[in-house]
Amino acid sequence: MSCPSAWSEAPLWMSFSTLSDLEACPRRWALSTAVYPDVWKHRGYPRPPQSAALEGTVVHLALQKITKALVECGCTSLVDESAICTLRELGGYTAIIRSSLERALRSYDGNPRAAPVLDGIRHQLAARVPELRSRVQRFLSRIHPESRVARPGCPTTHPEAEFRYELQHGSHTEVELQASELGWLGVADLLTLSPTWCEIRDFKTGTPKEEHKFQLRTYALLWARDRDLNPSGRLADKLVLSYDESDVEVPVPGASALRSLEDELKERTAAALADLRADPPEARPSAENCKYCAVRHLCEEYWQWNARRQGEDRDPSKGRFADLQIKLSGQHGPSSWDGVVQSPSDLKAGGPILLRTLNLRFDLHPDQRLRLLNVHISKPSEESIEDERPPIVATMGASTEVFLLPT
Ligand code: SF4
Repeated sequence: MSCPSAWSEAPLWMSFSTLSDLEACPRRWALSTAVYPDVWKHRGYPRPPQSAALEGTVVHLALQKITKALVECGCTSLVDESAICTLRELGGYTAIIRSSLERALRSYDGNPRAAPVLDGIRHQLAARVPELRSRVQRFLSRIHPESRVARPGCPTTHPEAEFRYELQHGSHTEVELQASELGWLGVADLLTLSPTWCEIRDFKTGTPKEEHKFQLRTYALLWARDRDLNPSGRLADKLVLSYDESDVEVPVPGASALRSLEDELKERTAAALADLRADPPEARPSAENCKYCAVRHLCEEYWQWNARRQGEDRDPSKGRFADLQIKLSGQHGPSSWDGVVQSPSDLKAGGPILLRTLNLRFDLHPDQRLRLLNVHISKPSEESIEDERPPIVATMGASTEVFLLPT
């Protein structure tokens, strides 16, 4: 198990997701963005792929590709002849989704935590292409892009390009909004601008959350303060969160509400950056923060908290997946080891455990300490206990990860 060789610098630009991450747990942000030359050559700790999150990414990428093509071709409705031709040129929905899936999986190239499970996830998601196609079509059925109209003296450059210019009238995809005086940026999925109207729309592939509304209000502020794309400081007239099944309109903040929001962001940004100056930054263990934390095996506070956790959703007599720290005592069989529990406490710290291993890529030895993420835990039946077998059995599965602790 590798520790970071250096912490990351504080973020130069703040965004909604970075602030949310920093406020939830500064240690998680620091561990996730630090440098681990022993693990891989990229910055940050590699993240394990998760099917549900990847599914959302695939839908998002497909929407990006299709809306961008529709906007560039001047299609204002999906039933336009030009829209049908555009989709055909892209290969049709199924081909777009398949290529989006491959693009999403490519981001895991060279990721040592993804390699053992990526093929399984690819097959699982490939079988869901018809469902993903329906999801993409549902999102698209509710958008009405506007053709772009070049204004005299206004270059046709997209804001992704090196130089940023005043946005033309029409629809724009993936618009990076920057409020440089505030030090904030955000990427709006679809921004539609006309002489009298400005709509910001964000596609959300997960379940609705209150924080999505805050994020969209933040985009309204960034748009209003973006001196390059919006030199006249126009305000948004409509904010839309676009979910799988329906759109949700978010009340538009007026000039005074934007000023309050700006003050709030300044204050929260300053507090989050101050928290980051601690060495190491504070760990804030909680069920919500730690459940999907990709660096929890590196976080000592998590394992101490995990060792103290009582009850919650835990009934070892029912099988469940959990994180576990154990110390091996000896080999039990060709693919099983005896050991003792070190964390969590509801499995009786110091109590015996039988670990059934699967596809281990390193050798184990007695006294070795292991951290196991997502291992299946069960109590054997009464008869097994009478047979004097260990009371707790931990079984590694395809999604289990094992990390060796220094001995
Ligand atoms: S395991 Fe929990 S406390 Fe530790 S870094 Fe992750 S979120 Fe923070």
